[in-house]
Order: sequence, then structure tokens, then C-alpha cells
Amino acid sequence: MKAIYPGSFDPITYGHVDIIERCSQKFDKVIVACLNNRAKDYLFSPSDRIEMIDEVFKDNKKVETDMFDGLLIDYANEIGADVIVRGLRAISDFEYEMQLSMFNKVLKPDLETFFLVSSDKYSFLSSSLVKEVASYKGDISSFVPPIVVKKLESKF
Ligand code: ADP
Repeated sequence: MKAIYPGSFDPITYGHVDIIERCSQKFDKVIVACLNNRAKDYLFSPSDRIEMIDEVFKDNKKVETDMFDGLLIDYANEIGADVIVRGLRAISDFEYEMQLSMFNKVLKPDLETFFLVSSDKYSFLSSSLVKEVASYKGDISSFVPPIVVKKLESKF
């Protein structure tokens, strides 16, 4: 089975890494798909975001990266994905994620969304908080992989 894990990954955090690792133990392939939504302001370009993920998973042959825009179900069709994977941190994620998965279910009923609950040590972690701490030159090394620390340091 081929899973697609879509998101902004701006940048990837240890919370994402945890979901991808756990997911790669259950599926044959995990495509980490970076969304490039023209209406969104990203700190990192799609190629930077992908480069960081590739570096973290260079030894895991089941993990691949890609970039997409437009509708997730169209992209899932294109690459022949069987399931969508999303991470759930807290109740606050739940409403939006449920809405999104129901929407996708109506548009493409055979494409299931699987939710992985965040490991408790990462349940507070988000890319936006990491960026905020990094912008004040705070220590972010427990939240993101070394390549991301380096890239964030060069941004701020
Ligand atoms: P999006 O812009 O789609 O919210 P993100 O990169 O923020 O993109 O998140 C991608 C997916 O990873 C979402 O399903 C999100 O809930 C999940 N996620 C983000 N941070 C964590 C974390 N710390 N633990 C588990 N899941 C997470």
C-alpha cells in the first residue's frame, strides 16, 4: 500500500518525522508531499522543504518526497496513492482534520484518510512555533533535525 502524507512541512519538525517513521513501518511506500499553495506564504521554498526531508530520510528507502499543488485527491490519483495519512496532535487539530477528510471522502470515496496520533512528547510541536522561537534566536535543536536548525539559522 502506498500512503501519501501531505502538508506544508515549512519546515519539517520531529513531530512530522515521528509520523513518517511510524507510517513507513505500516505501509510499503510513504510519499511525503509538500504542498505549494500559491495563496500561502511559506518561509522555505518547496525545494528547500523537500531537501530537508530528503536529508532526514536518506537511509529510509520507503520514504519519498514530492511537491504538489491543486487538489490533494487529484494528486493522489495521479500517483496512485491508496491512503492519505494525517497527524493529530490535539483536539484543536480534530475539527479541521475531520472536515478535510470528509470533504476528500465525498470527492473520492475510495481514498481513505488514516490518522496517526502524535507521540505525547511532540503533541505541542508545530512548524510555526519553531519558526517563532528561531526568529528570536532560541534553541530549537530539540524540536527539529540538525539540517533544519542550520537552514533556520541562515534565515534569521
Ligand atoms: P498543514 O499546513 O497541512 O497543516 P503541516 O506541515 O503543519 O501542514 O502538517 C502536516 C500534517 O502533520 C498535519 O496532519 C498535521 O496535523 C501533522 N502534524 C504537524 N505537526 C505534528 C506533530 N507535532 N505531531 C504529529 N502530527 C503533526
